[in-house]
Amino acid sequence: MTARILVVDDIEVNLRLLSARLAAEYYDVVTAISGEAALEVLAQQPVDLVLLDVMMPGLDGFEVCRRIKAAPGSMHVPVVLITALDQPEDRLAGLEAGADDFLTKPVGDLALLARVRSLARLKRVTDELRLRAETAMQLVGGEMELLRQLATERSHTLALIEAAEDGRLIERRLRGETELTILFQAADFLDRAAGDGIDVLVVDLAATTHDPLRLISQLRSGQATRLKPILALAEAGDETKAARALELGANDYVPRPIDRNELAARLRTQLRRSRYDEGLRRSLQQTIELAVTDPLTGLHNRRFLDIHLDRAANAEGTFSVALLDIDHFKRINDGFGHDAGDRVLIEFARRLRGAIRASDLACRYGGEEFAVLMAGADAETAFGVAERIRNAVSEALFSIGGEALAVTVSAGLALSRGGETRSAILKRADAALYEAKRAGRNRVASAEAA
Ligand code: GH3
Ligand code: MG
Ligand code: MG
Repeated sequence: MTARILVVDDIEVNLRLLSARLAAEYYDVVTAISGEAALEVLAQQPVDLVLLDVMMPGLDGFEVCRRIKAAPGSMHVPVVLITALDQPEDRLAGLEAGADDFLTKPVGDLALLARVRSLARLKRVTDELRLRAETAMQLVGGEMELLRQLATERSHTLALIEAAEDGRLIERRLRGETELTILFQAADFLDRAAGDGIDVLVVDLAATTHDPLRLISQLRSGQATRLKPILALAEAGDETKAARALELGANDYVPRPIDRNELAARLRTQLRRSRYDEGLRRSLQQTIELAVTDPLTGLHNRRFLDIHLDRAANAEGTFSVALLDIDHFKRINDGFGHDAGDRVLIEFARRLRGAIRASDLACRYGGEEFAVLMAGADAETAFGVAERIRNAVSEALFSIGGEALAVTVSAGLALSRGGETRSAILKRADAALYEAKRAGRNRVASAEAA
């Protein structure tokens, strides 16, 4: 899978050199000769990564980076700043501007391709999430709103460090930036890393009691950790190991001796990215929930039940379905108004929830009809559940807007032993429901065996 890379430099020959090296690796390369031109390209076409020269007349790299990271349409695009001088202040200014990484001129092939590969891979994860979360983001008012919500939550960083004194040093360096848990055992670390609430993982490449590179690849293949950002602490001067760590899936590294500002800024970059992805994931979750939830009662909707009913019908084993229909509901609407009718439905759903077991799945099947899928329930058990629901509804009046209303429900039950389609089962339950209505309502009837 290839990525489109935007290379920005005010010197033509630099553009050509970088382009040629990236094109040789089958990347799709676009170039811009100034900061202004770069922003124009970004506004016009999708880009997966920006390689940005810092020193340019007009808009310099820092300013271009700031603008990319401030625009909702491009804030998720990774930016690598290319600096001429290996000045810590320069790197810091870049990180503050929101850059995801740095390369120092002259740019070595190993470093270039490792960075590009790792950032392009991350971008693909984000893109995938963005695509799926698109509708949800419109619902919550866009990505900015989402990020604003997430920014108020405190982040948690989990670090695996070899030496206790390094742990103390990092603790001091990161004070105030993030909640920090430092562990010294790889096994503990793997356990905790998979848990909820951990935003960034820090791995010490100087470790000798375990293989840190193997650990990184384990984190990358673990279901719960495969998307979590990993920041590596590199040994002084060991660029090769650091590059290997990036190749295996680390997102960034900080060289020793550890500079306070650089560690904090790089951690911030990883946190920002993990927050962004987490925001997308949550909004996606929200959309899915909206799609299978009935907004009035909060119960699952018909679509959700149908999916589970199909699954139960195709699996081995006994299960029961109850169709429930509120008696003379039209009279409630006619006598007290549609709003009162709605409030009866809400109260009905509350009592229904209270009367079923955790393993039963209740949904609003439509209008004033509800359904309960009871996995593993034989006829007798299902009858017991349906009776409990019927009682929960009829035993106490519904108090709606100062009125006390008598509400009852009728239920039809169908037992399935497999080998029957969803619609056949529902048809039998519906026939039983009709029978309960015909026999006088406020009662439970069971269908003939299939
Ligand atoms: P039966 O005992 O035979 O079930 O009589 P019923 O009046 O309950 O049945 P019928 O199917 O004739 O009427 C159902 C009514 O439910 C008609 C419809 O307007 C009303 N209804 C459906 N959905 C809603 C809703 O979301 N809110 C309200 N307030 N009423 C609804
Ligand atoms: Mg009805
Ligand atoms: Mg009814």
